[in-house]
Amino acid sequence: MTADRSDDFFKKLASGVPGVLYTYWLSADGKSHCCPYISEQARALFGMEPDWLRHNASPWFDLIHPEDLAGLNQSILSSWKAMTPWSHQVRFMRKDGEYEWFEGHSKPERQADGSTVWYGRFHSIQHYKVLEQSLRDSRAEFSFQAGFQRLIARLSTEFINLGFGTIDQCIDEVLSSIGRFFGVDRAYLYRFSDDYRQMTNTHEWCAPGVPSLMGEQQVVDISDFHWWRRRIRCMVEDNKVTFIENVDLLPLDAENEQSLLREQGVASMFCVPIRVRGRVTGFFGVDSLSLREWRTDQADLLIIVSGLLSGALERHYLEKELLAQSIRDPLTGLHNRRYLEPRLEELLARGGRQDESFAVVMLDIDHFKQLNDSLGHLGGDYVLQRFADLLRRYCRGSDIVCRFGGEEFLVVITPVNPDDVETLVARILDAVREETFVYNGQPIYVTVSAGVVCNSELPPANATSVALIDAADHRMYLAKKAGRDCVVDGSGLSGI
Ligand code: GH3
Ligand code: MG
Ligand code: MG
Repeated sequence: MTADRSDDFFKKLASGVPGVLYTYWLSADGKSHCCPYISEQARALFGMEPDWLRHNASPWFDLIHPEDLAGLNQSILSSWKAMTPWSHQVRFMRKDGEYEWFEGHSKPERQADGSTVWYGRFHSIQHYKVLEQSLRDSRAEFSFQAGFQRLIARLSTEFINLGFGTIDQCIDEVLSSIGRFFGVDRAYLYRFSDDYRQMTNTHEWCAPGVPSLMGEQQVVDISDFHWWRRRIRCMVEDNKVTFIENVDLLPLDAENEQSLLREQGVASMFCVPIRVRGRVTGFFGVDSLSLREWRTDQADLLIIVSGLLSGALERHYLEKELLAQSIRDPLTGLHNRRYLEPRLEELLARGGRQDESFAVVMLDIDHFKQLNDSLGHLGGDYVLQRFADLLRRYCRGSDIVCRFGGEEFLVVITPVNPDDVETLVARILDAVREETFVYNGQPIYVTVSAGVVCNSELPPANATSVALIDAADHRMYLAKKAGRDCVVDGSGLSGI
């Protein structure tokens, strides 16, 4: 076969090449340019007739993405100056009006008249660019997911190690970590009132420079927020999240909500219910002061955060309840010895410093065994409860009133002078004696004996909680011996 160099030959050869073959000519003064040759593919790709460029390349340059033009001119200039091969990536507008990435390669050749001609090719690299982008996206996504997992692992560990009284710091830490991680402007926790008509901002984190809402709008009355109340119902009944992508696009009946959110500068927000023991008690939310897109998977992550907060709050309430239970007597609701002893130690420590005096009163129901025998154990319980009510009535909130054991009760009166104690204890004894307890229609007559001791009676070195209780108990025993229904204090017997 002979080497055929006809135009037809080159045309056929060029038509088999992916992309566009071209020559690009630039005058010696750099002021005019054209494409003396451009292959037919230019028509198919760009809707560009090769003839249009024969004397002026500008129509082709007009198809270049505005952001890529300066870089392209710069690359041509360097190739022109140094006569080095040219290679560059740009976006061209296709025939259908969409931009597509192309890569060009060409070699320059200086002409006798000082002008330059580049011989080269452009071909599409769109699929590489798409791949490159999706790789970048998936790398970013991977590091986002990994970062989130690390964050949740750290926060969960903090919650696991949560000590008594540290829940608030832990929640603040979660809000600030999550707020920073998601790049929002506020992250917060609200608690609903039992009737869901009010909500209280209990914890809040604000990005630097973002105003806090805790002070002025800590308690929000939502009686007139009809749209929001419907959303709350969805949170409560269906565990749904509430998502406001754009505050300006809220429905017409959310007028009140819209003006409040605008006042707060919120452009978009996301709220997830907080469920404690199966009941929605509030919500966790994030605000963005500028419009932003929320991806569904990010929304799922916020749900995980709310689960973490729900779990921590659940544990916190449980612990609080257990703590409260552990220091209360279940029958009478009074405090028990577990509560009494440390309080008494605190009082002793304080008394040592400030010379505050207090009195310990031991009260024991007389012949309670007989009451039990005649009324039955439940009847005995009834008497214990009524006696506890009476103590509550006669003592002040600052006094410590506890069921010490069985039918023995202990009251710490603070601060006090001895005469007041005598009066108070005498009044209690009178009240018990005069009160008619009725059980199953049967009147019951109850009396108590009491022993009183003041901390000031013991030398400070000997004044321990045990010594004070022992002394009060001993005087109560003396009151029993003296015939019951009476009080023994430091001055001896009284109240018979
Ligand atoms: P005294 O006048 O000397 O105090 O005689 P008492 O019968 O009150 O004292 P005693 O210590 O002999 O009896 C106390 C009784 O209280 C014995 C016990 O069965 C009863 N008791 C202790 N705890 C409870 C309780 O929770 N409920 C009832 N119903 N009885 C209790
Ligand atoms: Mg008794
Ligand atoms: Mg007793």
